[in-house]
Amino acid sequence: MVDQQLAERYHAVKSQVAQAIAAANRKEADVTTIVVTKFHSAKLVLDLLDLGARDFGENKDQEAGPKAAQVLEHVVPEHRWHFVGQLQSNKVKSVLSYASAIHSLDRQSLLGALVKETAKKRAVEDFKDIDVFIELNLTDDPERGGIQPAALSQFATEVLEAPGVNLVGVMGVASLDNEAEADFERIRMASETLKTLKPQANLISAGMSGDFGIAIQYGATHLRIGTAITGPRQYN
Ligand SMILES: *Cc1c(COP(=O)(O)O)cnc(C)c1O
Repeated sequence: MVDQQLAERYHAVKSQVAQAIAAANRKEADVTTIVVTKFHSAKLVLDLLDLGARDFGENKDQEAGPKAAQVLEHVVPEHRWHFVGQLQSNKVKSVLSYASAIHSLDRQSLLGALVKETAKKRAVEDFKDIDVFIELNLTDDPERGGIQPAALSQFATEVLEAPGVNLVGVMGVASLDNEAEADFERIRMASETLKTLKPQANLISAGMSGDFGIAIQYGATHLRIGTAITGPRQYN
């Protein structure tokens, strides 16, 4: 049995997303809702698959790897895992075994690890390049993960030259305060910059539970929605 409250939240968010897309004069097919299931069980993912969700997000390999495997112990429709959290280089090999996209390419050393591990995979199997989004740092704090928008072109050029990775777009986390709109605008501008280097890298991963409506107005193509669908996370 699918959890009834989960079903209600899922359908409510899907209809809010649809309304925001219509209000922005955009097409539903251009926006993917990724349900971020971190801190939730494989059972919740199975319920969401029953409800029609096909894209799932996780931010820690230690949790995502076993969860993705547990889901596959059942007969399930085709679905995709998106890695959205800070990724340590030594976890790249594992993440490549289940993720179809990495939204958090945020530094050169991670790019190096991706090149190395994808080459190893390509040597032994028919491996398709991994989709990657470059994560932007929209703060003034260099300690925060991500590429400063001013440095995007340079980093993107390196990513485009790297084998094994398929650059698909940019990713950003907007601040929680009333600066969110300005942040989404900066993400949109960064996307325009990236498209001058690679027109097909036109995806924008942005928008979370609290701000997906605004993100849609600013062109987000991949929403990463957790609690608004899953309910609160139990941290322990
Ligand atoms: C957890 C997480 C989300 C989802 O956050 P909610 O506020 O629960 O919707 C989105 N993006 C990233 C990178 C996350 O880690």
